Amino acid sequence: MPHPTLVALYDEVLRRNPGEEEFHQAVREVFTSLDPVIDKHPEYTDAAVLRRLCEPERQIIFRVPWHDDQGAVQINRGFRVEFSSALGPFKGGLRFHPSVYLGIVKFLGFEQIFKNALTGMPIGGAKGGSDFDPRGRSDGEVMRFCQSFMTELYRYLGEYTDVPAGDIGVGGREIGYLFGQYKRITNRYESGVLTGKGLTWGGSRVRTEATGYGTVLFTQEMLRTRGQSLEGKRVVVSGSGNVAIYAVDKLQQLGATVVACSDSDGYVVEEGGLDLDALRELKEVRRGRLSDYAEGRDASYSDRGSIWEVPCDIALPCATQNELGLEDARALVRSGVVAVAEGANMPCTPDAVRVLTEAGVLFGPGKAANAGGVATSALEMQQNASRDSWSFEHAEARLTEIMVDVHERCAETAEEYGEPGNYVLGANVAGFRRVADAMIA
Ligand code: GLU
Repeated sequence: MPHPTLVALYDEVLRRNPGEEEFHQAVREVFTSLDPVIDKHPEYTDAAVLRRLCEPERQIIFRVPWHDDQGAVQINRGFRVEFSSALGPFKGGLRFHPSVYLGIVKFLGFEQIFKNALTGMPIGGAKGGSDFDPRGRSDGEVMRFCQSFMTELYRYLGEYTDVPAGDIGVGGREIGYLFGQYKRITNRYESGVLTGKGLTWGGSRVRTEATGYGTVLFTQEMLRTRGQSLEGKRVVVSGSGNVAIYAVDKLQQLGATVVACSDSDGYVVEEGGLDLDALRELKEVRRGRLSDYAEGRDASYSDRGSIWEVPCDIALPCATQNELGLEDARALVRSGVVAVAEGANMPCTPDAVRVLTEAGVLFGPGKAANAGGVATSALEMQQNASRDSWSFEHAEARLTEIMVDVHERCAETAEEYGEPGNYVLGANVAGFRRVADAMIA
């Protein structure tokens, strides 16, 4: 980002947000693509569009007190960063994980602005969460935590204001507790205030599957540009949460073999292909650990080394930020990887992205590749607003259209800016321009 406007603004971001490394990384990542746009559109600089975008519209930090099963009072910290409402109500997930602090919420919220813009749907960007650790907590504890969290957060939400959903540590169970508390406090059945709801109370079919399915659909579109398909490909998917599981599902439907997945303790390799039903039973029903998966199967579990050492044609990092570093990228290139698409948010470090793209690997950044999740949240809002409920086929057809469009938007923009095949540039520029034009208007 040699452009002096960007250099000065990045310095300002560092100064105003000390210690928020992940946020700095996310800003740098977007800025790296914006030189040609800043050159071509002085009106963006005149209106201080980027400077405004780097400062969230509103940041909320609050205390979340709750009773554990022993009757002791526990205290956590809650966050909601409402980044941009230029295109629609603030929209983005909630993450419950001990690593959560303001810098992580801001990186996620910043990314969300451009991701949401890329989907073409009328949604602004936000993110929230807490340093609450759901691991090992009972249903009752999770419920009391969620109720307390919503008791403060509800006043900032609304179907026209701010619409949270899930992220790491927040799935259907948590959305249920949060929605129930919102309904009690406000005395309103406001379905469109949260997405990721259960199917009987306002949820959308395909929302659970959407992020994983969308990532695979995006990968398929990238492969198509080189005359290839997923059929017969050997794939490694990191993670074993919601995104990873439904990525595995769609990959198998499209004829690929998924040979490995992981959790935060280790990874499993199963040369014949992972057993999706067994994986779902373990993770979704028993909420267990992957170390229990291999028992009695022709599979091996390892808690040493890296999942990216497992040779593959396609790699989908679907766990968490900065999980795939320089050495991992080098190992993937050595094994002949053809495509990498980010199911998680910012899972590849900047060094890793450089190594992959320099080696000619197709690289789908998270903003584009995992946009199917939030896009389907927008479809859920649409169904809520019209008091309708679509079939699985209809919702999946819409998701597919959206992912094909997102891919096309990125590819066309990359071409327009003289770098065909550069999806990082395409996603950043196309997402940024949609938000910037709305702000100017
Ligand atoms: N947390 C998801 C994401 O990173 C989904 C957000 C949403 O559905 O609002 O995009």
